[in-house]
Amino acid sequence: MRGFKCLLSEFSIVPKPLTIPDLSDEVTLARYPFLPQAKSWIASMAVKHGIDIDELLDGGMMDRSRIRARSRLVDSVDSKDGVEVASIGDIHTEEGRLLEAFSFYYARLVVGASEDERLISRWAQAEAERAQRILERDDSIDIIANTYLSEISCDERGIWKIGLSDFIELCTGITGSRWRLPNCEINDGWVTLHDEGDRYSSRAKVARLLRERMKDDIKIDALDKMVKMDESLLIRLSEPVGMIRGLVASKTAETIALIGAGEEDWPPCMRKIVGELSEGVNVNHFGRVFLGSMSRCIGLPQETTVDFFRGAPDFSESTTAYQVNHLYEREYTPSGCSKLKVNHNCAVRTGDDKLCDQPWMDHPLKYIRAKQRRRKRQESLEVNAEVPKPGDG
Ligand code: SF4
Repeated sequence: MRGFKCLLSEFSIVPKPLTIPDLSDEVTLARYPFLPQAKSWIASMAVKHGIDIDELLDGGMMDRSRIRARSRLVDSVDSKDGVEVASIGDIHTEEGRLLEAFSFYYARLVVGASEDERLISRWAQAEAERAQRILERDDSIDIIANTYLSEISCDERGIWKIGLSDFIELCTGITGSRWRLPNCEINDGWVTLHDEGDRYSSRAKVARLLRERMKDDIKIDALDKMVKMDESLLIRLSEPVGMIRGLVASKTAETIALIGAGEEDWPPCMRKIVGELSEGVNVNHFGRVFLGSMSRCIGLPQETTVDFFRGAPDFSESTTAYQVNHLYEREYTPSGCSKLKVNHNCAVRTGDDKLCDQPWMDHPLKYIRAKQRRRKRQESLEVNAEVPKPGDG
């Protein structure tokens, strides 16, 4: 992972307004929950509704926010148009605004907990695309433009002008000849964004330029969350992180390297099922579905998952390949410990495995995450121990 300071420096070239405009309209704050003005609003909503981290992660009141967050995350991987614009709630109600704001907040926590910069970039891009599409027809474009750009103005005909320095920095990330300086009208340090039809109306061009700035800000905030994430939060977020990683893996056909969960990180229940299958034991249906969905979540290729079943007494290549493909396509997420215990797929009793004995251990993906964190810590301790200290012989 590259240094965080280095990452930040990539985003700090462009001049920004020294003071950001006041914004108190709650609908706008909920629509664009990444705005700098939204931070204090979200904090005040959390206090007002008693939303703490436990509520956000597991509480009943935040159920719908987590569902919406999941669709925000899935869209960022799955949809070429970015995050779905329409919310599942009415943003003109307090409940709908809570849903939008906290689903964004939760989704940002999940991508931060993934510790995967590519995933964070992808998500930031998708959220920024969503915001761009709303901005193209939202009257609040004016205040948002003034939040992100140091020099921006609009005349009475609806034609926008942007300061040259902002334009130069932002247009480098956009393809197309209309964004190249020789093709633009420039007067006294201002670039005029002429109307060129619906898709490239003056307003749509501002929204497109703003997308670049919003994407960088969303990404910076998520990276900030990533470096501040403590271990217990990382572990608590293992399940949604596993879901989104699994989805990325299935979309990009990347393999185990994506999550880096080698066999030594697998939870005992997964090892037990793989071991039993290889010995010809007839593992029950629940255990088989669990193994398939775990394999998907840790980024194993489908062929590897099919191979796990080769020793099963009823193995059929075509049937297994079909069922595994179904699990991957439907993006099944693995069941938690309590269901595995009920279905006789848990492999341990108290005292067998310290991690499984932890009071917070309720999901095998948490086991993998905790194992990875411990291994990483151990490796860095070993590296530090090998570095010669001043005065060492
Ligand atoms: S406690 Fe959970 S993670 Fe551990 S073996 Fe049982 S089901 Fe798997």
